[in-house]
Amino acid sequence: MNKMIQAIMTAPGNIVYQDVDIPEVQPEQIKVKMKRIGICGSDIHVNHGKHPYTNYPVVQGHEVSAEVAEVGNKVTNCRVGDKVTIQPQVVCGKCYPCTHGMYNDCETLKVMGFQTIGMASEYFVVDAKKALVLPKDMSWDHGAMIEPLAVAVHAVRRYSGDMHGKKAVVLGGGPIGNLVAQTAKALGAEVVLLSELSAYRLATAQKCGITTVNPNERNLLDAIVEACGKDRADVIFECIGINPTMKQAIEYARKGSHIIVVGVFGDLATVDMAAVQDHELSLLGSAMYREEDYIKAIDLVAAGKIEFETLITHRFGFREFKKGYDTIDQEKDKAMKVMINMEK
Ligand SMILES: [Zn+2]
Ligand SMILES: [Zn+2]
Repeated sequence: MNKMIQAIMTAPGNIVYQDVDIPEVQPEQIKVKMKRIGICGSDIHVNHGKHPYTNYPVVQGHEVSAEVAEVGNKVTNCRVGDKVTIQPQVVCGKCYPCTHGMYNDCETLKVMGFQTIGMASEYFVVDAKKALVLPKDMSWDHGAMIEPLAVAVHAVRRYSGDMHGKKAVVLGGGPIGNLVAQTAKALGAEVVLLSELSAYRLATAQKCGITTVNPNERNLLDAIVEACGKDRADVIFECIGINPTMKQAIEYARKGSHIIVVGVFGDLATVDMAAVQDHELSLLGSAMYREEDYIKAIDLVAAGKIEFETLITHRFGFREFKKGYDTIDQEKDKAMKVMINMEK
C-alpha cells in the first residue's frame, strides 16, 4: 500500500508528521491530492485545547482545495484532474434534520478536522458526493476560501437570498464577518455597515469595499442611523460570539429586525430577552452550510463579486503548520486567513 505524510495534532499545540497508508478508493469515493488548507478560528481553538467537541489526537484541515487524483468506478460528479473543494460534514442521512434538507444540523454531525479525520495529509480519500468542482481558473488559495465563504452565504440566506433594498449591519470584521458583509453586498444589499474595533480589520474591510465604523471612536447607534436612515437595519449579523456585540445587536435593532447569530459563543451571553419579545425581534442561529451555499459561494467568486486576496495575510508550507499557529498567536488581529500550501 502506498504511503503519504499526515500532520497529526497529538495534544494542543503539538503537531507531528507521520507516514501513513493511503486508504484504498472505494467505488463511490475519490482520492484527491491536497493543495491548500486554510486555518480558521475553530482550528485555533483546537490548537489551544479550547474546542469543546474535539479530542486528541486529531488530524485537522477542513477549508481546502485539492486536485482529483483517482476516482472510484461509480463516481460521476468529478474526473481526474478536476479542481475541487470538499464539504467537511459527515452526517447520518436518517435523522429529522437530515431527512428535511438541513443536514448541516444532523443530530450526529461530525466535522472533518474535529470529530473525524481532517484533510491535513498529502492525499485524502473521501466520498465523491462531498466534492464540488471549482472553475479551472480559480486559484488554489481561493478554492480553499470557498468554505468560509459558504459559512457567510448560509448566514445571509438565513435572512434572505435576495438582499435587494435591504440594510444590514455586521458586527465583527474577522474573516467571517468580512465575508458576510461582502456576501450581503453581492446579493444586493442597499446598505452594509461593518462594526469592528481592530484598526487592521477595519482597513481590511475598507479594502474589500465595505463601509465601516469603529464603535470606540463613534457612537454605534449614530453610525447605524447615518448609514441606514432612521429605520436602522433590517438585519444584524453577530459575527464574533461575545456578550457585548450580542447586546449591541438587540439594543440597536429596529422593532421587527432580524438578528442572525453567526459567531461561536465560548461563554453564556446574558441578553435582554424582554427586548427580543417586546420588539418582536427574530433571533436566528446560523451553523455551517449546505451544498447550495457552496454552489452559491462558487458562483459569487466566479462572478468576481468577492475579494479574497486581501484576507489571505500569511502563507506557510505543509511542514510549517505550527509556524502558522504561532504566527496567529503573535499577530492576533493582523492574521486574518493563514493559508497552508500542502505542496511546500
Ligand atoms: Zn473553519
Ligand atoms: Zn442526521
